[in-house]
Amino acid sequence: MRRPMVAGNWKMHGTRASVAELLKGLGSEALPGGVDVVVFPPSLHVERVIDGLQGASIEVGAQNCATQTGQGALTGEISSTQLADAGCKLVLVGHSERRQVIGESDEVLVRKFEAAQAGGLIPVLCIGETLAEREAGKTLEVVGRQLSSVIDALGIGAFARAVIAYEPVWAIGTGLTATPEQAQDVHAAIRAQLAVENSEVAQGVRLLYGGSVKAANAAELFGMPDIDGGLIGGASLNADEFGAICRAAGN
Ligand code: PEP
Repeated sequence: MRRPMVAGNWKMHGTRASVAELLKGLGSEALPGGVDVVVFPPSLHVERVIDGLQGASIEVGAQNCATQTGQGALTGEISSTQLADAGCKLVLVGHSERRQVIGESDEVLVRKFEAAQAGGLIPVLCIGETLAEREAGKTLEVVGRQLSSVIDALGIGAFARAVIAYEPVWAIGTGLTATPEQAQDVHAAIRAQLAVENSEVAQGVRLLYGGSVKAANAAELFGMPDIDGGLIGGASLNADEFGAICRAAGN
């Protein structure tokens, strides 16, 4: 039985004042006991968020890490080791905004995935197709290739300590959500691809859906057999909405 996870990606949002407000809101939400709840603030706010969530049963993750662990001469980067030292437990790897806007390749993301685990963090590998790829019937090919890049380089065992988020690019921040059936089809294909290598790992790994999840559509998505929770962007900036999504995962 996989434990559901709901993860909030705050992206490049948050001032000291707005983060304080959001923390206050999250602290007063009734969160379900059977769900892992995580928030991913900008690195600038990680320590503030960890302090502010003491006793709230919410883990904190980072949105990115360096391709190298430890410390060293790499201006502007933050390593998984440093993030773990600050109290982070997880890190996003391969969010479509980093793939498409920053230009991170599968090769770079494999190195980040590996560095995340070496530094003591659980990577949340984000994969997903663009609208053009979906319309060309290439969804499973694209998602399969993104997943293979990590399996081929690091082995299936790497997914024993990882989470995967299927996030169709056309659904991120657009208000368009994959139907539960569309999402389930891709999640089932991801799990089947992992199962070819190792069925135990495939059955154990949590597959989150991301892309315009709201309180109003969360329960239907989370009710599908291979959807183990969600990666939430915009709606995670509203404590009441995020709390309701977490409760939907608990039902
Ligand atoms: C995301 O950024 O990972 C995401 C899913 O965003 P949104 O929920 O706003 O579509």
